[in-house]
Amino acid sequence: MTAEAFAEYEVSGESLGAILDGFKNYPTVALNYLQKFGIVKKDQVVDRKGWYPLGPWLATLEAMMTDVGANSMYKIGRSIPENSIFPPHIKDIYSAVASVDVAYRVNHRKNGVVMFDPLTGHKTEGLGHYGYEPANDTTQIISVCDGPYPCELDRGLIAAMAARFEPSAKTQHDPDAPCRKKGGKSCTYVVFW
Ligand SMILES: [Zn+2]
Repeated sequence: MTAEAFAEYEVSGESLGAILDGFKNYPTVALNYLQKFGIVKKDQVVDRKGWYPLGPWLATLEAMMTDVGANSMYKIGRSIPENSIFPPHIKDIYSAVASVDVAYRVNHRKNGVVMFDPLTGHKTEGLGHYGYEPANDTTQIISVCDGPYPCELDRGLIAAMAARFEPSAKTQHDPDAPCRKKGGKSCTYVVFW
């Protein structure tokens, strides 16, 4: 997709900054692309309280991934929740994986409006989902993701959320499901422990 396809969307500086923290081993790569795609001007830093246009940020991520590789993107995904403070209702692997979709919406705006309303629980549509389907009879959660972020970044993020409450949890891409990297509309991750 092109940057124009995301023209009405923004990402929070907090979310953008949390991903950038994962690039701390590649400071030059990060800075070069942030400037190239106009996220920051020379000598500027990311304002964690600000909002940034989503299209250029996705283009920045794609470019950075070309330089650092998919494995690093997975590790960066895993690092995203490291410094997050979780609300008290997130207390186990189920609530943790389920919370990813809400956190995603809290950190994105559509036409200037945050995509999750904590008062009503309303979720604004338009940027895909981080799915949550717990299995009935086994310790497994399926998450179908159809948002615009890179496959490995999403898998790392879900893996980190799962492992925070179940250290033995594994998060694998369903090899038989489509993958956004290969032109699919979604990726399917299987969390099991
Ligand atoms: Zn995928």
